[in-house]
Amino acid sequence: MSTRHSAASYCLGIESTADDFSVGILSFDGDVLANIISAYIPEKGGIHPREAARHHAEVAGNILEKAFQKARIKPQDIQVVAFSQGPGMGPCLRTGATAARALAAYLQVPLVGVNHCVAHIEIGKLVTGAKDPVTLYVSGGNTIVSAFEAGIYRIFGETLDIAVGNCLDVFAREAGLRQDEGVPFGAMVEKMASQGQTFISLPYTVKGMDLSFSGLLTAVIQLLHEGKHRLEDLCFSLQETVFSMLTEVTERALAHTEKLEVLLTGGVAANKRLQSMLSQIADEHNARFCVVPKEYALDNGAMIAWTGILAYQHNMTLPVEESFVKLRWRLDEVYAPWVGG
Ligand code: AMP
Ligand code: MG
Repeated sequence: MSTRHSAASYCLGIESTADDFSVGILSFDGDVLANIISAYIPEKGGIHPREAARHHAEVAGNILEKAFQKARIKPQDIQVVAFSQGPGMGPCLRTGATAARALAAYLQVPLVGVNHCVAHIEIGKLVTGAKDPVTLYVSGGNTIVSAFEAGIYRIFGETLDIAVGNCLDVFAREAGLRQDEGVPFGAMVEKMASQGQTFISLPYTVKGMDLSFSGLLTAVIQLLHEGKHRLEDLCFSLQETVFSMLTEVTERALAHTEKLEVLLTGGVAANKRLQSMLSQIADEHNARFCVVPKEYALDNGAMIAWTGILAYQHNMTLPVEESFVKLRWRLDEVYAPWVGG
């Protein structure tokens, strides 16, 4: 008990919505003491939820230990345990939730359930200094344009089918690119695209403020199998098309809300071409362009810990018996009293 009375307060956050298991430890004033990530890489095909959950269960003990070593604090120094409660894959979420409940019970500290999408935005604000941005959140599982208005993170546009990261990943797998050495498929497509020269027209599907990628994916895979085009040109055309769609919707949200910042986050945020397109529209609207560094843009435990701190400071703790996971918990269903003072 003695160290619990030390001056600083700390939150430990567990992220486990999909392919990554991660533990972050932050002080209540926003210092990141540790952010350890272990990615599950399927041998072939996409992410199998049960296989990913098995990976999470296997690595959990080790990742927790590494996080405490990195943070140089003891488990007894933790005041709050936060976990990603949704949205995500059931078996993966449950594995993280179980670890969080066990840890909170053992340490006799409160538990906080965090919405994964809110966490991406909050850590982005913390690390870039953005205050009230239009956010484009693009990852393997999500594609959302949002901004805070009237008490919630409103969704201005979103995908109607697959996420943009998933679209890039499926194409890369079809093209026979191999995911090794931890280089994500999206980064491989980016590298190929940089050597593309010819633009091949692909379906461009923006419906109102929403986006659709599945028809476009089918079309580009069909062209790939026809074998008439260079892979570099297909990657280039795929990127130009999907990123233009994302940029169009983000620009309209920016024009509508008149916010002064654009925040880009999620795994796909690492893409330089997407960064440059968004930075251009931000400039045109006199808004500041902020991109979240990779470590905090990918799924990570630090973002869960930070959002856990914000919620905890508004007494949003969760009794264990109510800490069930929420597979389809939408961003715009989250009560976020900490935003706007
Ligand atoms: P996340 O779901 O946030 O963990 O992010 C993973 C997604 O980001 C996957 O779909 C990756 O292919 C994608 N990704 C990572 N790096 C890049 C990049 N440089 N360009 C495009 N997509 C990327
Ligand atoms: Mg991931």
